[in-house]
Amino acid sequence: MRKNIVAGNWKMNNDLAQTQSLITDLKKQTKTSNAEVMIAPPFTNLWHAFESLRQDDIEVVAQNMHFASNGAYTGEVSASMLKSIGVQTVILGHSERREYFNETDELLAKKVDAALAKDMRIIFCFGEELKDRKKGWEETVVGNQIENALFHLEASAFQNIVLAYEPVWAIGTGETATPEQAQDMHAFIRKTIANKYGNDIADEVSILYGGSVKPNNAEEIFSKPDVDGGLIGGASLNAKDFFAIVNAF
Ligand code: 13P
Repeated sequence: MRKNIVAGNWKMNNDLAQTQSLITDLKKQTKTSNAEVMIAPPFTNLWHAFESLRQDDIEVVAQNMHFASNGAYTGEVSASMLKSIGVQTVILGHSERREYFNETDELLAKKVDAALAKDMRIIFCFGEELKDRKKGWEETVVGNQIENALFHLEASAFQNIVLAYEPVWAIGTGETATPEQAQDMHAFIRKTIANKYGNDIADEVSILYGGSVKPNNAEEIFSKPDVDGGLIGGASLNAKDFFAIVNAF
């Protein structure tokens, strides 16, 4: 049975005091669903978050990493550095990394390899832009993003990969993909994985949806058969809203 996962991507939000306060609020929430819960604070707060949540059922994950293990890469952080503070999972390929930091499929393939080499779990993000969808190219774009960054991997690597479909036009815009649009794309993604790696791998991989998921739309989106959870931006900055989404399963 594949896992249901709700992960909060804090992006570049929350200084240390705000992180402490949000974690205090998160600890007060009650989980009534079976979803795995994750939060991804900025690098500066990972250690604090990890220490604070040691006894809790919330995993602390990173938003990015470099592909090299160490060296002259000013401003970067490696997989082994993340692991050394207890972080086991990293988000890779977020559309904001692709857009503002020029992360290409080729670079992401190297980051994927580096994370897997350190036995890290990856939440691998991809999604089409509005201009692609207007032309009806969304499946081609998404198929290429998956193929270019992941299809060099052995099937066994998928035990450590979670996929996250985030249509760029739905991120931070308040415009969510309809549950049907999300389901159609997730079914296409699962079929793409099945064609390459077989049904067993495809059935086991969790596929999250991200893009303006809120307490009032989460339940309907999560009710779709191929939607296994969410990657939550804005609504993950409020503990009540975030847990309303966690409990929407
Ligand atoms: P929003 O939930 O703010 O649209 O962000 C989605 C996202 O980018 C999560 O990674």
